[in-house]
Amino acid sequence: MMVLIAEDTQTDRLILKLYLEKMGHSVLEAEDGSSVISAYKDNWKDIDLIILDLNMPKISGVEAVKRIRAFQDESKLDWIPIIFLSGSTIDEDIEAGILSGADDYLSKPIKPKVLSAKVHAMARIADMRAQLLQANRKLEALATTDFLTGLSNRRCFERSLDDEIAKAKRYDIPLSIAILDIDHFKRVNDSYGHDAGDLVLSSVAARLQAGARKGDVLARIGGEEFAICLPSTTLEQAIVACERYRIVLSSEPLSYGCDEFTITLSAGIASMDVDHASKHDLMKAADELLYRAKQEGRDRIVYN
Ligand code: GH3
Ligand code: MG
Ligand code: MG
Ligand code: MG
Repeated sequence: MMVLIAEDTQTDRLILKLYLEKMGHSVLEAEDGSSVISAYKDNWKDIDLIILDLNMPKISGVEAVKRIRAFQDESKLDWIPIIFLSGSTIDEDIEAGILSGADDYLSKPIKPKVLSAKVHAMARIADMRAQLLQANRKLEALATTDFLTGLSNRRCFERSLDDEIAKAKRYDIPLSIAILDIDHFKRVNDSYGHDAGDLVLSSVAARLQAGARKGDVLARIGGEEFAICLPSTTLEQAIVACERYRIVLSSEPLSYGCDEFTITLSAGIASMDVDHASKHDLMKAADELLYRAKQEGRDRIVYN
């Protein structure tokens, strides 16, 4: 591990450094409260553990721990363990150290076996935390991804749309959305089977994704229904973009085994304006326009 140590007494610092290095750890040294804070801010990417003295001049260990934890919160950094060194065995000192955000303490003089055991325990907790974090990230990805196509799912789309609407309002920039639905998709299932239908859905998603502009949020929001959020995009620009999506899909047939078939889509586009200022209004407007596209003969884009 890379251990940042802070201790104002030079000999104590040297002994601690030697113990840690003997255990195979790398050590970064600071000699008071303010330099441990700046050393952490400059090197947080590399540091796995902090061990610091409670009694240091200028900024105390307690204050330093508080500021380091505050910096981690502000910068959304991962938690790392902090152990403080205490010359006193006064309960209040130990309590203050733990309450400031440290995780454990060591009494001075440092006993190498106790130091080693506590460093091990902290490494184990850090490891478990990292595993938990990774599992959470996987769950988050599963909860926001459409299993069949790998695109964002409806929940993720709506969350992105909330963010984009807020941004559009804050900075007074345009925003458009489109809802796309594959035409006569039931026929694919009926003629070629559900597996072929699934494959077509994946291929359609891949084609739309390949044609997507940077910044566009593409999602599968229902069975054979997709949605695109087009940030900083006026209605006129959205029409051009969606026309491209439509052509990207229908210009070349998709193949399934020896069969080839052309897939078309219909879409409704809505842009944010005074009448359509909320997510609900935008989605509703795009959905109604999609319905009109179907009625008017499919393979087309309809807008207001
Ligand atoms: P329209 O042009 O009016 O949209 O006709 P359509 O046939 O595409 O629409 P309809 O709503 O009648 O049928 C949608 C079909 O999509 C029916 C359903 O079985 C199929 N479907 C929905 N989700 C999936 C899926 O995940 N896999 C497969 N293979 N089919 C799906
Ligand atoms: Mg001291
Ligand atoms: Mg359909
Ligand atoms: Mg549909």
